[in-house]
This record gives sequence, structure tokens and C-alpha cells, in this order.
Amino acid sequence: MKLRFHSFQLPLRHTFTISRGSMDVQPTLIVELEQDGLHGYGEATTNDYYGATLEGMTAALEALRPEIESYSLQDPAAFWDALHPALRDQPFAHCALDQAAHDLWGKLQGAPVWKLWGLSLENLPPTNYTIGIDTIETMVAKMNEFPGWPVYKIKLGTGHDLEIVKELRRHTDSVFRVDANCGWTADETIENSQAMKLLGVEFIEQPLPADRWEDMGRVFGASALPVIADESCVVPQDVDRCAGAFHGVNIKLVKCGGMTPARRMIDRAKALGLKVMVGCMTESTVGISAIAQLLPRLDYVDMDGALLLSRDIARGVTIENGICRYPQENGNGVTLVG
Ligand code: MG
Repeated sequence: MKLRFHSFQLPLRHTFTISRGSMDVQPTLIVELEQDGLHGYGEATTNDYYGATLEGMTAALEALRPEIESYSLQDPAAFWDALHPALRDQPFAHCALDQAAHDLWGKLQGAPVWKLWGLSLENLPPTNYTIGIDTIETMVAKMNEFPGWPVYKIKLGTGHDLEIVKELRRHTDSVFRVDANCGWTADETIENSQAMKLLGVEFIEQPLPADRWEDMGRVFGASALPVIADESCVVPQDVDRCAGAFHGVNIKLVKCGGMTPARRMIDRAKALGLKVMVGCMTESTVGISAIAQLLPRLDYVDMDGALLLSRDIARGVTIENGICRYPQENGNGVTLVG
């Protein structure tokens, strides 16, 4: 295989704010793998919280160029396992490589990845549209820019969270889910769960800081709403720990190292009776199209990342009012347009 890197500064439609900070531009790394004249693409965005930079990701993969370029791709999972010892500390870089391997594999096999996995596109869960933290008026305006979605995900952690949800509820009957991004205490979570249940919220994502397992155990027993782990569920080993502390897990491809470990985490979570969600970062259609391959196996999905951009860099899976549309192309269905 031939390995290539492309880096982009993805421009955002709006400044995106969560409980930890804000951004206007999202740097992203696109990894390209070429074999037999076909091209596969994968993505990993940079991330301060997880310490992923363009330089770090590129250097980690550059160091493996001889191994990658001498590899003949037949099974993306075997390729992932072969490189895992070297990329154990670089899950974002490994994710971009693994997505590219899947996209290429499907194109080499002449079929979409979901089909090669034996899945069908029936009863797919709708994706939410995410509303970042802002003034309440602006949050209402952001929601009204994407009207008619079946589910909205509201970022919280502001000190006036209940007020935000109440005001948004005045403008829509759609389902809400909320994400506190580690911004609440256990008592706040339990209290908010009761009030928010009455406001049509279906679940709470990551209310407490990632390592508050004892407090999460208390929340798990007392919350009026299901709680879903995000920052507390990063790698496959975390899934077991989430049983008894959360009702479900939000798997992200960059956090765990790609589609290969994500599939293993989905298997394990389902075996433990946990609800399974896959979430995106603010990322292009390259990464979103990879998530779409897993969609038939999910209870919930958050794959609106490319809609938060003012300019995309790829064609592939698209989202219309929360519903995922698959392209004709094979693999993950990605074509880079730059
Ligand atoms: Mg989250």
C-alpha cells in the first residue's frame, strides 16, 4: 500500500463551545492508503483533551511507513492488530489509518463495508443534531437553523442548564439528549435527571469527570434518566467498568483507535447489556462515513459532525433531518474533494 497524508483546517459554521472551551476551526488529518489503483481515506481530528496533534499523529504513522507500505491489505482487523503494539499510545492516528484501511478494503472487495460485515440498513437510529453552549437565544437560533430533526443533543455545563433546556423545549417537540461533558456533580446530576425527564430528555451523557467511578455508582442507582459514558469509556478495557456505573457507552472511533476496536467494544457492551452509541467529533464526511458503517449495530448515534462545518472536504454519507443516506461508492463510500 502507498501511504499519504493530507491535513486540513475545517472551518466551523459557528464557534463551537462545550464545557471545556471553544473553537472556530478544527484541524484534521486525512490518511490515504492506495492499493491496486484504489484509494481509501480515514480521518482523525486534533484534540486538546486527548493530546492529539497533527504533528504527533503524522510522526507516529511516518515512523511505521515501511511496515504500512510493505503490507498487502486483505483483512483490516488483522492489519489493525499487526500495528497495535506500535500505535498503542496513538489511538487517533491509528483510527485514521484503520478507517482508510476499511474504506480501501471495501473498494478492493467491490462492496460497502456494512455489507461486507453482513449488516443491513433497516431500522437505523436517527442521528441527533448537536447544539453547542452559547447564549440561550443563540442556542434556540442554532436549533432553528436545523428544524425538524427527530433528536437534538444539547451541550450543557453552564450553571443555568435547566433554563436552557426549558427554553429550547418551548420551540420543539423533538427528543432531547444532554451532554454535560464532565461538568456536573453527582447531586446536580440526580436533581437534573428528575427535572429533565419531565422536559423530554432521553438520557444524560457523561455528567461527571471521567474518573469519578464511586459517584457514578450513586448516580446510576438514583438517576431518573439513563446515563451514558463518553469520557469514562475510551478503550475496550473501559467497557466492563461502565457496567454498573452507566446504562450505556458512547464509543468514539478516535478515542479507541478506529472501526476495528469499536466493533469489539460494541460486542462487549451488548454482551453486558449496555446501550451502545457511537459519537463523532467535529469532523468531515470522511470520519462520518466510517461511523455510518457501524450504524446498523447501534442504539443511538451522534454523527452530525460534518454539518457543523461551513465547508466539507469529502463526499460520502450524507445526513438529512437526522436520517443517514449512503452513497453508491464502495468501502466507507468516501471521495476526497479537498
Ligand atoms: Mg460527549
